[in-house]
Amino acid sequence: MSKIIKVLKLGSGIGQREPHQKRRRALVAGGAGFLGSHLCERLLRDGYDVVALDNFHTGKRYNLNTLLRDPRFTCIEHDIVDPLPAGLEVDEIYNLACPASPRHYQADPIHTFKTSVLGSLNLLELARRSNAKIFQASTSEIYGDPLVHPQPESYFGNVNTHGPRSCYDEGKRSAETLFFDYSRTYGLDIRVARIFNTYGRRMQPDDGRVVSNFIVQALRGEDLTVYGSGLQTRSFCYADDLIEGFIRLMNAPHAPAHPVNLGNPGEFTIMELATLVVGYTNSRSKIVHRPLPIDDPRQRKPDISFARDNLGWEPRINLAQGLAHTVDYFDTLLYGSRMITGA
Ligand code: NAD
Ligand code: UDP
Repeated sequence: MSKIIKVLKLGSGIGQREPHQKRRRALVAGGAGFLGSHLCERLLRDGYDVVALDNFHTGKRYNLNTLLRDPRFTCIEHDIVDPLPAGLEVDEIYNLACPASPRHYQADPIHTFKTSVLGSLNLLELARRSNAKIFQASTSEIYGDPLVHPQPESYFGNVNTHGPRSCYDEGKRSAETLFFDYSRTYGLDIRVARIFNTYGRRMQPDDGRVVSNFIVQALRGEDLTVYGSGLQTRSFCYADDLIEGFIRLMNAPHAPAHPVNLGNPGEFTIMELATLVVGYTNSRSKIVHRPLPIDDPRQRKPDISFARDNLGWEPRINLAQGLAHTVDYFDTLLYGSRMITGA
């Protein structure tokens, strides 16, 4: 029997705790997405009851297949822009709900902005009512097209307020403001992670972000589409490393007084990434150039000194290892077979 519940009527008491229940309960908004589904898995392994909230905009029901076999997991189909289902009682809240790929967040920019602002407000109010600890998945997009390199948390960023990326960047910046205002005003225990480009299993083939695009193109023998010169840089973190960072930040005994960068400091040009992917897939694909999107940041590399020194966290999986896992995942997804990769 499916446990995905479509909330048609509020006030249904979904998520209420049984009187005898001792296990901690975590709510994961965006739990059917790429990172959210990995986080739900990890929380179940750590002994939590988990409630996922998702509107399935970019999240997929099949990401939840394994999770739904666990009686401690529930998923509620819900848009966090709307008032949350009544009666939810949780100890911890993770807010990952927001499309993360430029293709998806630009498709309905007003809804993307509402998701970050109204969605965060709804979850912060729930945290206040339940006295729950709350985590926000913020982003390196806070830094925009950065003029400081690498980016420490103290850098305020260089963001366009009115371009096609602004709905995401400014939405996430506003959400950070709300989180810190709730902390100062109501004493809420907040944790804010600034996540740099992350990739891995469960990305969708049509996600539109660079790692999935290149791998899918290479496996299909299509041209790899490098936007612009390909000399712009990104720092790519494997999903498993990132989830470990989430847990360490959430479980740290004291809330950091500022957002915390989580990402892999290894920095690569997009041309380097394309060349690596062609190599690991043994593909005959060519690399072609397409126009650079508006406001595409020229460089990105996290300064993770704070996470390293205070959470004892740093990524363990390098790009070669992470790409090998991800190529295997996409090969199985697309062709149902495993191929030998070069790393
Ligand atoms: P994703 O698109 O796979 O997951 C987002 C999930 O949120 C999806 O399941 C989607 O259906 C759901 N969602 C979107 N809007 C919603 C709404 N209004 N109500 C309820 N659910 C909603 O993206 P992801 O890569 O897993 O990213 C997860 C979070 O991490 C996002 O908040 C994103 O901004 C942040 N982040 C990700 C990266 C990255 O590289 N993956 C980098 C920086 C920040
Ligand atoms: N990019 C690219 N080809 C693609 C998709 C993306 O060259 O098929 C580039 C994009 O222009 C950007 C970088 O890769 O410079 C990372 O893009 P992505 O959308 O993955 O993440 P973001 O721009 O949000 O960092």
